[in-house]
Amino acid sequence: MTFEELRLTRQFINAIVDKGYNQPTEIQEKAIPSILAGQDLIGIAQTGTGKTAAYLLPILQILKYAQGTEPRALVLVPTKELVVQVYKEACQLASYTDLRIVAMYGGIGPKTQIESLRTGIDVIIATPGRFLEIYAKREIHPKKIKHVVLDECDRMMDMGFWPQLREIQEKIPQKKQQLLFSATFPEKVERIAANFLLFPNRIEVTPQATPAATVLQFVYETPNFNTRCSLLKDLLRDESFSRVIVFVKTKEQATKVFTFLDNLRVGDIRLLHSNKGQNARINAVDDFKEGNVRILISTDVSARGIDVLEVSHVINFNVPTHYEDYVHRIGRTGRAFKTGTAITFADFSEKYHIEKIQKLIKQTIPELEMPESVDVSETPFLEKQEQLKEIDRQKKIENPDFKGAFHEKKQRNQKPNFDKKSKSGSTHKKRKR
Ligand code: AMP
Repeated sequence: MTFEELRLTRQFINAIVDKGYNQPTEIQEKAIPSILAGQDLIGIAQTGTGKTAAYLLPILQILKYAQGTEPRALVLVPTKELVVQVYKEACQLASYTDLRIVAMYGGIGPKTQIESLRTGIDVIIATPGRFLEIYAKREIHPKKIKHVVLDECDRMMDMGFWPQLREIQEKIPQKKQQLLFSATFPEKVERIAANFLLFPNRIEVTPQATPAATVLQFVYETPNFNTRCSLLKDLLRDESFSRVIVFVKTKEQATKVFTFLDNLRVGDIRLLHSNKGQNARINAVDDFKEGNVRILISTDVSARGIDVLEVSHVINFNVPTHYEDYVHRIGRTGRAFKTGTAITFADFSEKYHIEKIQKLIKQTIPELEMPESVDVSETPFLEKQEQLKEIDRQKKIENPDFKGAFHEKKQRNQKPNFDKKSKSGSTHKKRKR
């Protein structure tokens, strides 16, 4: 199928040609006619499927040209990075029209965003929080909003945006076209759909929570932080790791990994986490996108929604404990018809999460042998203690009556013997059997 066959007008075909898209992706083929026909829609599609253009193109085409001063379409996304990305794509796709688009996100003052609104606007792309903040200043007049997109809805729910989404729904007209996009479709997203959408057409381009077929996935058992660093160093010797995103659990660890790699001089690296200023974060992403940077280290929240083509490898330095994040993360590689590899490091306390992820993606992630060149070090006392606590926590999740071996020992005021405890990793397995 071609974009012309989707009944897109010349203005948009021109913009598509400029973007270098040769043919519509599956979600575009399925969603564009339905949106142009005015239907409500649930789109189950991962990042990388072309879902952004799938909703932007028909909405922009319906809006056609600049009209009045009040916004007529609203796109809500979970993070500022995603606002910036969707905004860029919207501006490119609308470049042969006079449509006015504004990006609204926090972390910077609202002044410029408010000024754009005052001069007249057709499309708002915003995080829920910033939308409400500016609404509260009476700078948004939502009466004319006729199209609302909730993008990365599962993520918005994970980030606790349900109250804000409800509040926004109360402020915009009831009669409108509503589109919901989500990589996965858990119960909480179903709740949004049931509350806000009217007889939606449901389109699913990949089976729920199935990672892109083009992504190779592996896991390494890595006993501790230092071994993870050593493995990372080893992997990066391979030049095919040309553009790599490393996801790290915490800001502190992300900084440590950054310092470690920086000292090794393995190529240009950028660090992305929420303590970094807005401009530093956007610059880091832009540098990475332009190919000037080999490695981007990020905490998960910061990395969400970054649109980077041709990422060769995603490395989960830690196993994500929000399992749907795994799907999102590995969605950064193998995007838009390219292949990629996702590698996850897991210690024994993270195996539990790997099992849960495998259930979610309905796939087994093959485990690779640790390369001999990797320095496998002893796990330090405190790190081991954290891992054992984590095992206890997991057992409690599975069995709320479980008191916890770790805590029992602590209560008896015994100094934990971690040699024995390390065996208790395998004892734990035996007990499970
Ligand atoms: P998305 O799923 O919207 O994040 O899009 C993923 C990437 O695919 C973005 O870089 C888009 O620019 C790109 N893309 C979207 N539609 C197409 C298309 N029809 N052909 C090629 N690339 C596309």
